[in-house]
Amino acid sequence: MYQGMYHHVKKLMYTVRVDTPDPKFGNMLLEQFGGANGELAAAMQYSIQGLNCDDPARKDMLMDIGTEELSHLEIVGILARMHLKPMKTSRKAAEADPLIAIAGGGGVGLCNSMGDAWTADYLKVTGELDVDLRSNIAAEARAKIVYERLINFCEDPGTRDALQFLMTREITHMMAFTAALESLGKDRFSIGKIAPTAGLVDQYFNDSTGDGDRGDADARGPWNEGANWEYVPAPAFQEFKSERQGTRTTDSLATLADAVGAGSGSEHPEKKRAASAQAAELKHAKSKKEN
Ligand code: MN
Ligand code: MN
Repeated sequence: MYQGMYHHVKKLMYTVRVDTPDPKFGNMLLEQFGGANGELAAAMQYSIQGLNCDDPARKDMLMDIGTEELSHLEIVGILARMHLKPMKTSRKAAEADPLIAIAGGGGVGLCNSMGDAWTADYLKVTGELDVDLRSNIAAEARAKIVYERLINFCEDPGTRDALQFLMTREITHMMAFTAALESLGKDRFSIGKIAPTAGLVDQYFNDSTGDGDRGDADARGPWNEGANWEYVPAPAFQEFKSERQGTRTTDSLATLADAVGAGSGSEHPEKKRAASAQAAELKHAKSKKEN
């Protein structure tokens, strides 16, 4: 059995003070009110995930944080209203956001800074707890960076204090979601129940290869070398190692030269140049493997 009810406590989570209203900044604040990474989206995402969650401990956390986001929505809404207020009477102020001034009478509407209506499409709810937690960690990172940008564009000390508070809480949430994900004890790359195809899963496909002086060098790093990585140069020109699994061979030089150069029967210089560059790359990859 699960019981719950909402109760609105009239005391604000953080006392809001605006020293100098700035209607243009009020418009920017709407991004965190009804925007893609805003507080309503966060509140709804975590609360709906919580409703779907069969794990009582993490459900509790999702409901706690979802509810806190509603408190943030209230703070942002009040901040935005204070900044937008001059729109009620001043034509110059109204120009900062005609939609809010004319259609909304200077109050906050549930839209982003560009006037786009809030949509449930912003929410990421998969019904798979660990996958949802990853979405939440990313959502908190986005919310943090949006607050940071707002702080950078804000001169008003009272507003900056409130935004610093809100920005900090997003990092707190990110820490909680991360700890909750790790506490599930799942392998980092184990998602769902069906195992990925062995062999294929470790193949890195170098699908964009350079072409002479107009191409950038192919970058290597921990995302495609070391560990179990198998680097496949230009897979489009390689043969199947296993057609059933979809794995590709990693070193068929002849096939590549055929496919790009002579095979097409063309003497096109660009193609020949591409073929020789790729053949050199393959040779390099092969010699590295042999060493
Ligand atoms: Mn928030
Ligand atoms: Mn948050």
